[in-house]
Amino acid sequence: MNWKGHTILGIIMGLPFLSSPEQIFLVVAGALYPDLDHNVKSEIVKRGIYFSGVLILIDFLVYIFKPQYFDLGLFVGAVSILLIYLIPYFAEHRGITHTFLSLVVISPILGFLAYKLSIISPIIAGIIALIMVTNDKLLGKVIAICVFVWIGVYLIISEVNPLITFQGMYHYIIPIGLGYLSHIVGDSLTPAGCNALYPLNYKFHKKEAVIIMVLWFLVVAYFIWKKNIF
Ligand SMILES: [Zn+2]
Repeated sequence: MNWKGHTILGIIMGLPFLSSPEQIFLVVAGALYPDLDHNVKSEIVKRGIYFSGVLILIDFLVYIFKPQYFDLGLFVGAVSILLIYLIPYFAEHRGITHTFLSLVVISPILGFLAYKLSIISPIIAGIIALIMVTNDKLLGKVIAICVFVWIGVYLIISEVNPLITFQGMYHYIIPIGLGYLSHIVGDSLTPAGCNALYPLNYKFHKKEAVIIMVLWFLVVAYFIWKKNIF
């Protein structure tokens, strides 16, 4: 599935769980991350490795020469960014980044980074998450789609209460995880399938994708029922 398919499926699967419009950026970031393992995305991965590598180097220099300014949180952040890119750097296409294992590792890391960046602004945090997984060509198109949906979500949420609201860092982690899940569903629908249960050797195909979609629908239906909307 290409980036358009993943973006649209991500938005569909993420929408019912949003309580704030800017979370749409996070959903799409999660939906696009797994394909960083693709050769054509290697420039994004290399850019991320250089960036986080320089941050780690600066942290080291600060630690050696000005230890009073060393900040452990910043160091952990830089190492986390490096990890986000090292995984796809060493992965084969549709390998480790297309698994639940990677979903539960990457979503909290990327979500926590966005949560920390939200001190500046939640919208900027979301856009930075998108920048991290796209190149300049893709970013413009993806942002245009996201802003379009953003306006829609803004109008809907200001009219009706959200189905569910996640607090604190979960406000950032859950949308990324949902986008990520939608990517696994999307690729499972393709003939090549998706080895989502790694290290188990079991390929997800159409049947598994349908099962996840049914479960997703039941969860959405549960929240609608709980809200007494109808
Ligand atoms: Zn993929």
